[in-house]
Amino acid sequence: MRKYIIMGPQGSGKGTQAKMLAKDFDLVHISVGDIFRWHVQNRTKLGTKVQRYMKEGRLVPDEMVADVVKTRLDIHDWRHGFVLDGFPRNGAQAEFFLENYDIDAVIAIELPEDAAIARMQSRRLCSSCGLDYNLIQLRPQVAEVCDNCGGRLVTRPDDTPEAIRARLRDYREKTQPILDLLREKELIVTVDGTPGPDIVQAEMRRRLGLAAEMVEESAERQPVGAA
Ligand code: AMP
Repeated sequence: MRKYIIMGPQGSGKGTQAKMLAKDFDLVHISVGDIFRWHVQNRTKLGTKVQRYMKEGRLVPDEMVADVVKTRLDIHDWRHGFVLDGFPRNGAQAEFFLENYDIDAVIAIELPEDAAIARMQSRRLCSSCGLDYNLIQLRPQVAEVCDNCGGRLVTRPDDTPEAIRARLRDYREKTQPILDLLREKELIVTVDGTPGPDIVQAEMRRRLGLAAEMVEESAERQPVGAA
């Protein structure tokens, strides 16, 4: 059983890295942002509540986030473990989590802010299946069309310049300090997020003591499910 948290500024590729790791080691990838996006897209009650926060690039209130994480982990479909992506993002969430769950490691992907901004601006998402693309590193075969389902690629509503600035500020002010706390507990594995996805993944596995040879360039990408 392996239980990991993956953290990094927006645009650092944590979702892509989490999926690559989860796929090869049979872990469940739990992305809090994907769960919220699913609720928004399906117009659930929770979706209506979180939509504005997300669009403006603000953090969703802690109680709603804790509920979502707890409900998702309570499903217990993670026989071999999980990679939790996008949580915790502030001190209160870290406290809740560390009190209730044991974690093997926290993977922190580092990326300078200007690179994070450039990546977010080049990010596209399939409006139909949710598969994510990056016009710098992960281009679709046909411009603006999803390789997986032929859906239209769109910009995430929270990838506007204002929302990007707000999210990076929150990361710097609220998330970064918990990395320091986790570092004290010796849970952190830091990885440089600047190179391409395969190199980052290989380095991550090396640092976690997992078999690096399992990284394959052709790793199949998965669309976003209802998680
Ligand atoms: P992400 O896909 O991880 O960038 O998350 C998208 C958006 O979902 C964030 O900008 C927040 O509005 C919300 N969100 C995701 N995870 C959290 C969290 N742990 N705490 C608060 N809000 C979150």
